[in-house]
Amino acid sequence: MMKQILSWFRKNPCLMPDKESRRLLLPASSILQALGGEKWFENRKNTTKTAERSVKACRTCDAREPLVTLLRCNNCKHVYYCSKDCQRSNWKHHKVECREIVAEQEKVKRLSLTDPDGAKLATDWSLWRKQPQFDILVHALGLHRDPGRGRTHILFKAAEYAPTTTKLKYKFRVVSCGVFRIKDVLRDIELIMGLNRGEDQEYVDSLFDESAGTHAGVPYIELSFGDGLQAWLSSGE
Ligand SMILES: [Zn+2]
Ligand SMILES: [Zn+2]
Repeated sequence: MMKQILSWFRKNPCLMPDKESRRLLLPASSILQALGGEKWFENRKNTTKTAERSVKACRTCDAREPLVTLLRCNNCKHVYYCSKDCQRSNWKHHKVECREIVAEQEKVKRLSLTDPDGAKLATDWSLWRKQPQFDILVHALGLHRDPGRGRTHILFKAAEYAPTTTKLKYKFRVVSCGVFRIKDVLRDIELIMGLNRGEDQEYVDSLFDESAGTHAGVPYIELSFGDGLQAWLSSGE
């Protein structure tokens, strides 16, 4: 157990941001010593990796490591669950997304044989989209004024590839973005996503249904797209 806890801290150094909480939760402990004392925490940096880990939680009940062991969806290897029960109850929401993720992974695999640049672009795009960008969302949707807007409005984000930089964060530039009432742009969502006529409302509803479950956060959805990029409708809270 001790080993597990230590490795968890090494991977998530920024989840106990202040001295006070460390003092309370790791009282004069062997864990703190094994990590290298207070000094160890002071020198940690928040990176894309640690940011990604900090949002790693059971999709259904939000349980996090190290309290539970998270399992990945076997199919897309992309979302996490704490138990088979949680996975089963989430399947109706994850189904469509799972199919899209797998399709994208297969596309990357195919491209890597014939068109390495195209494969690189698709991989960068899927990584970039996954980065948490909550600040932008909160401000663009005006959630700080009225959290209810997360349910009625959507953020459209058009991006452009800028492969000159090595930092993932800057590999895509948001060239334009706009906030719209969801019901005004359902047809546009359909076109950009390549959905069948009439699938739009159902898709949007399924995204919100999911976050109406056990989570207490403010739900939102956003649509990212761009020239030569697979459009992606994502939700969260
Ligand atoms: Zn769970
Ligand atoms: Zn999946």
